[in-house]
Amino acid sequence: AKSRGRNSIHYFTENMSTDFLKRMEIMRDLRTAVEQKQFYMVYQPIVNLSTQRISKAEALIRWQHPHKGMISPLEFIHVAEEIGLIVELSEWIFNEVSQQVNSWRKRFCPELTISINTSPVQYKNNGAQINAWADSLLLRGIPCEAISLEITEHLLMENQLEAVEALDKVRLHGMSVAIDDFGTGYSSFAYLKDFDFDFLKIDQRFVQNMSADNKDTALCEAIIVMASKLKMSVIAEGIETEQQKQLLIKAGCTFGQGYLFAKPLSVADFEALLVEQNST
Ligand code: C2E
Ligand code: CA
Ligand code: CA
Ligand code: CA
Repeated sequence: AKSRGRNSIHYFTENMSTDFLKRMEIMRDLRTAVEQKQFYMVYQPIVNLSTQRISKAEALIRWQHPHKGMISPLEFIHVAEEIGLIVELSEWIFNEVSQQVNSWRKRFCPELTISINTSPVQYKNNGAQINAWADSLLLRGIPCEAISLEITEHLLMENQLEAVEALDKVRLHGMSVAIDDFGTGYSSFAYLKDFDFDFLKIDQRFVQNMSADNKDTALCEAIIVMASKLKMSVIAEGIETEQQKQLLIKAGCTFGQGYLFAKPLSVADFEALLVEQNST
């Protein structure tokens, strides 16, 4: 038992140092990446479950590293948050997405809304960055309804008061706000009391385990009922099968997102879907 213990400690430290080195590398490369704009956005359609119509999409970032290929946002977003690069990076994301949604609204889909994932620090200083976004939209004649902000509970835990005030302002401007990954944090329900969200996104871990009469289905059904009582629309994430879709429709869920409909798409591929939708 003793030697096993030693081995596992050895293994643990080795693991930690690879993780550590990887993080150091990401930190180092991320600064250059932001300067050189080694990023691009992909867009995952959000469909109305009963009509299959696309009127929303979620913008997701991709980092094309010059030597290492694609790096997942799961690996670098939290590093960007830690080293304070997220504000600058998000500024680039917002510019990219707002131009794109404006162009798509004009050419293909006047009611299109694109959601952007936001990080806690963006709500600091009374939400200065987010307020600047609203101003920027107004200046360019882009309706604030074109952009929706996704926020996880993680954010709300970190700075309650500042976040509440910043979010209130954002909603005054007409940007909608979604609570992301609902059900995965410690106090999901408590936040619903203090914040007014327009959309609730059910986390994929509930959706992906749905099958007839199981607990995950019961939980999704209960969340959907609750959301409707609180006047929020529900978006189910990570729908991969027709059965999950049918169970969600039966439960009264309005919107869905997931590989069953489409993976996150390049600008050209998403645009092709909008064109196709207009011709049918
Ligand atoms: P998220 O906001 O929960 O985004 C959903 C993730 O689930 C995306 O992963 C998406 O590709 C994936 N997904 C969508 N449908 C399915 C499905 O049917 N099955 C499965 N297995 N997965 C599905 P992605 O793009 O790797 O993003 C991961 C996370 O990184 C996001 O989670 C979000 O928290 C963060 N992130 C991504 N882009 C941005 C960004 O622009 N800004 C910030 N702050 N965070 C971002
Ligand atoms: Ca999200
Ligand atoms: Ca999510
Ligand atoms: Ca997530």
